[in-house]
Order: sequence, then C-alpha cells, then structure tokens
Amino acid sequence: MSEYIVVTGGAGYIGSHTVVELIQHGYKVIIVDNLVNSSYDAVARIEYIVKQPIPFFNVDLQNYDELLKVFQSYNIKGVIHFAALKAVGESTQIPLEYYENNVGGTMSLLKVMKKVGVKTIVFSSSATVYGDATRFENMIPIPEHCPNDPTNPYGKTKYMIENILKDMQTADSSWRTAILRYFNPIGAHPSGLIGEDPLGIPNNLLPYLAQVAIGRREKLSVFGNDYKSHDGTPIRDYIHVVDLAKGHIAALNYMQQIEESKGLYREWNLGTGKGSTVFDVYNAFCKAVGRQLPYEVVGRRAGDVVDLTANPTRANTELKWKAELSIEDSCRDLWRWTTENPFGFQNDSYKWSLFQAKNDTSYLSRLHTVKFSETDFEVSIANYGALIQDIKKKGQSFVQGFSSLDGYKHPDNPFFGTSVGRVANRISNASFSIDGKSYSLTKNENGATCLHGGNNGFDKNYFLGPVVKNIKDKDGQAATTLDFVYVDKDGNDGFPADLVTYVKYTIDKVSVSVEFEASIAEDSKADATPVHLTNHSYFNVTNGPTINGTTVKAITNKYLEVDDKYYIPTGKVAEFPKELITGLQLGESSSFDNCLVVDQSNWKLDTRNEPLRPIFEASHENSKAAIKFYSTDPAFQFYTGDGVSLEGYENRCGFCIEPGRFTDAVNNAEWAKQVVLRKGEVYGSKLKYSFV
Ligand code: NAD
Repeated sequence: MSEYIVVTGGAGYIGSHTVVELIQHGYKVIIVDNLVNSSYDAVARIEYIVKQPIPFFNVDLQNYDELLKVFQSYNIKGVIHFAALKAVGESTQIPLEYYENNVGGTMSLLKVMKKVGVKTIVFSSSATVYGDATRFENMIPIPEHCPNDPTNPYGKTKYMIENILKDMQTADSSWRTAILRYFNPIGAHPSGLIGEDPLGIPNNLLPYLAQVAIGRREKLSVFGNDYKSHDGTPIRDYIHVVDLAKGHIAALNYMQQIEESKGLYREWNLGTGKGSTVFDVYNAFCKAVGRQLPYEVVGRRAGDVVDLTANPTRANTELKWKAELSIEDSCRDLWRWTTENPFGFQNDSYKWSLFQAKNDTSYLSRLHTVKFSETDFEVSIANYGALIQDIKKKGQSFVQGFSSLDGYKHPDNPFFGTSVGRVANRISNASFSIDGKSYSLTKNENGATCLHGGNNGFDKNYFLGPVVKNIKDKDGQAATTLDFVYVDKDGNDGFPADLVTYVKYTIDKVSVSVEFEASIAEDSKADATPVHLTNHSYFNVTNGPTINGTTVKAITNKYLEVDDKYYIPTGKVAEFPKELITGLQLGESSSFDNCLVVDQSNWKLDTRNEPLRPIFEASHENSKAAIKFYSTDPAFQFYTGDGVSLEGYENRCGFCIEPGRFTDAVNNAEWAKQVVLRKGEVYGSKLKYSFV
C-alpha cells in the first residue's frame, strides 16, 4: 500500500506550491483543506500541472471525526501542516477565532495523528514568533536561537503550537517534528497556473503592488522612508514560494533519515539571508511589469521595524537546502500569474458543482458551467470524459445529456457529449502495425473492430483540471476557456505509449470551440501510437424528442465507402446525392453513419493552422434554431443516432458531427499520416459549434 503525506491547507498559497514539489519529488499526497481562505480551483490546477489526481478532503481540522476517517483510509507516513488563518491585522480584531482555528485545529490534528500512530510532522511556523528581533544587539540576521516574543495573536498561535509540539515530543520522543519558520514568501509558480489568491485587500507588499499594476488598486502606500537602510525603507527577507516549498521536501528527507526511536524536534529558518528594502522590491516588480507604478510615501506603520532578515545557515547546512531564486525571479513569476489570472481564481461567469455517481465522493466528478447572461447561453462540461453535458440557449437544450454521472457510466450510454479517443471511429480487426510492430486492441464492436478507443476509452476516464480563464478572443469578444488534461497509459485497451492529451474548450456568447492536442510523454517507453480525437455530442435543433424534420447542409457529399459487415472503408470515395449539400430534410428513414470527406489531400497530424472551415449546418423550421459546425480536420463522421437504445431517450434523439480523420486511417498506408504520432510530434485539431 502506498504511503502518503497529508498536506493540511494544501489548497492555499504555500501549500499548493508544496504539493506540486512533493509530487514532482515522487511523494504521494492527500490534501485536507476546508477552503476557508482558498478555492478548489487551486487543487484542480495542481492536478493539471502534475498530471495526476490528488485525493482531496474538504474537512475542517477541528472536525476530529471526519479527520480521523481520512487518516484511517490511507497509509500515512507524515503530515505537512499549513492550515491556519494568517492575517496579522485580522488576528488582533478576532483573536478568539485565530486561537480556536489555529491552535484548536492543530490540537485536533495531533490527536488524530496520535490515535493512528503517525508521528512525523512539518509545521508552518513564522518569523513572527521572534517579534521585534531588533530589540537585541547581534540578532540580525535572525538565528533560530533568537528569543521568541510574538507581538500579535496570529504570531502567538504559532508560538503556542510550537510549544505544544515540543511538549508532545518530550512526552514521546519518537515524534519527528520540524518547525519551519518562514520569512516573507513571494512570487508564484513559473507556470502561471497557481499563486497567491488574496480574497479581499492584500496585506503584503507584492500582492498589493500586483493589484496596483493590474488596475485593481490606485497606488502603493510605502510606510515610512526614514529607516536606517540604503533608501530609508524597511528591510525584509523575501523568499520565492517555490524555494520555500522545496524547503519542506528537504525537511521531510532530513526527518526520514532520523531513526524513529531517536525522534527529533528542531527549528529551521527558511529565508534567503539577503535583506531587501521596500524600494528594492518595488523596483524589481516595476522592471517585471515594464513601467513605473504609482506609490506614495506615508507615515510609519505601528509595529514595523527596520530589519528582519533571516539567518538561514542552519537550514543550509543541516537540511542541505538553500534558496536559489532571486527577487527578480519572484517578480517575473508573480507578474505572469497576475496577468494570466487578474482576479485570482474568482470568475463571475463560471461556477462548478459536484457531479458524482452513486457512492462517489471524488472531487474529480465535477460539472463546470459557463454562462453568458447577455445571450442566455449556458454550457456545462464534466471532468468525466471532458464531456459536454449541456448547451442551452434561451432555455432550449441543443445536446443530449444525463442529469447525473450514473447515466454516463451506464453501459448503454451511446457516448453522449464525450471526448473520444485514443482513436475515434473504427479500427479494422482491432489491430494495426507501426514500424513493423503489431498491436492488438480490445474488440468492442461486433467482436471484430475496436470502436472509439475500446472498453476504457477517453470517455470512461476523468480528465484533470480544468484551468478556467476569462479571455478576449481574436475579435475582442469575451470568452471563457476550460482546459483539461488526461494521461492515457501505455497498454490501455492495447494502445502503445503514454499519451498526454489536452482538451480545451473556449465558450463565448454564442459558440463552443474545442481544441485537441496530444503528444507522447517524454518518459514513455513506446514512442509511436495512432491518435484520432473528436467530440461525440448528439445535437438536436428540433426542440422535440427526435431529429426528424431537421434540415441539414454539408460542405461535401463525398464519403468513404465501407464494407457491409464491419463498416470499414474499402479505400474508395463515393458520393451521396447533391441534396446533402444544397439542403436535405431528415425524414424518419434518412439514416447516416458515414465518414464524409472534406479534404482528400490533407495528411497533416496537427491541423490547427488550417482554416476553421464551415462543414455542416442544421436548422429546423419550427424551433427557428440552427447550429453551424466548423473544423480544421479533413473529414467528419455524420451519424443520425439510429443505434441509440436507452430508457428515456428516443432512437434518433440527436445527430453527431464528429470532425476528425479518415476511418481506420492507421491501416491505410497513405491515410496513416493523419493519425500516427511519434515522440516529439504533436497531434492537434480544432472544431467549433456556433448556435444561431
Ligand atoms: P493560505 O491562507 O493561502 O493557506 C492556508 C490554507 O489553510 C487555506 O487553504 C485555508 O483554507 C486552510 N485552512 C485554514 N484553516 C483551516 C482549518 N481549520 N481546516 C482546514 N483547512 C484550513 O496561507 P499561506 O500563505 O499558504 O500560509 C500557509 C501557512 O504558512 C500558514 O500556516 C501560515 O500561517 C504560514 N505562514 C505564511 C506566511 C505568508 O506570508 N504567507 C508567512 C509565514 C508563515
């Protein structure tokens, strides 16, 4: 059974960065966070960065019973304890809440740990425990033996917790306890995907300055420029949050070397040892932004002192850890995070809800809804299969979907709304060969072919993320993007290579665009695979139970001729009557399940730079609704849903337009170029549904 590290407060600023580092250093992690000062979006983004799911529990540490359940469900080898309220000013206003949450939460955590016999803990302490270290001579830079004298309730909670931990270790010397005293964490993850998300007015210098730069605040107030420093402003020790996160890995590694019988209680400062003034930081950030930012020097702030720089020698020598990143690095990363997420994780046009099947408690099972009130246009997408659950305009649904995840997990689900892969459509004999090597796949259709990726295709897996952002599209229109990732493992349904796939939705006030991108993971053993990705929504513009009466127009009437038994292309291109181009009204017997050919000379693996061509449109007289379909791909499957056999849904309740590559392309010498992906190459395509 794998051993896990529990990270309390793992959805928060420092916790989220530490979880990323832990996973990248090979640890398995569980996050416990009650989201009182954070958002689950941070966890979704951590998962997106590390490309693996992380068990998450929305539990308040003070809830002993719930916390105990979490600890009893996993094999846990240690805890990193970040969860706390942290605003110094607020702690002077509501001290009881601070003592209750920080000290009470820790007591509950320690009781649980004691009960289950987990005795390794890394605790987030703070330089605030030292109080005004300038009250002593020779204590700047501040060493760990500097006497403690916190000056506010927040700092006192840290001081108290340190003492509780010390007493626990004295009582049972097998505890291994690392006290990490942080100086001033700044910056963000270099990916721009996670960072500090100050809900309200930021208390700290850089988050405040970032909001000035993005236009959310008017100017920075500099509290006093008459201190004894090179420019008159106070000196602090600013540390990049990624360096700080790595300090936790160093502490865990250090403690693992300590014999359990010996135990340990030890404090370490995590700082750079290099002090910077307010103006040093201000100048570095202005440089990152590329312009001078407004500020005003105001009077000194009560309690501020000239210099609080760390002496990090103990951590440097014992933990073999050293801060490596500069203030310039921090400012660059913070600016990227700020420009890409000007409002942190807050987003007015987006909301998510749990979308769990029976007995399912996973936060992976979520439904994401984007709404444009102006056009009354609403789109809902689930992590499961990165599927489109609903597209609604003025109350009318244009796609078929289920109201619960159980429907999607039902064996008769005809791939409603889902992303399809690793290879959409059919592969003859469920086999192929690349570079002389043969592969056998799951035969999931007629005991002969492999359809839509087999029995455990993309539609039956959870995509990670999404990363949700508000953007302006090329035409300056507001849009929301939802970016999902999924790693399909080598051998799944017989396909070779670990495949990393991104499905990115862009939703604006009248359309839904989908971009697919796939590449073979760098550390994958196998280095080639076929790929063919699309979306399998069932559209209906009639506002009725079937598509009968819909008028359709396709860009082409050419299609791949197939055999009668297994619907595999013969290699010939045939033609439907021209009506399909000029306008065909679907009657009860107009039945299609064909690969229509848009372009017979496009053998590109990544078609995203091709024009987004209009390939199909569907409308209905009575409903007055219409959908236009666009794609960069050379073909699309047109299916009238004749195989739908599902309680509550009529046969032909929707039609599918599945832009993609030629059917069974991997088994055709020429067409194979459309689908055979090798390590270092990128598969890509785009499609768009526009609702009139
Ligand atoms: P943060 O507020 O971003 O993260 C703390 C997380 O703990 C949040 O996600 C919050 O929802 C969670 N949490 C709070 N109370 C909880 C409870 N009772 N049960 C479950 N979850 C709870 O703060 P941060 O900046 O990431 O700080 C992390 C830790 O580091 C804190 O303990 C803080 O005191 C300490 N610290 C922070 C700084 C700093 O400047 N950011 C400096 C020194 C020490």
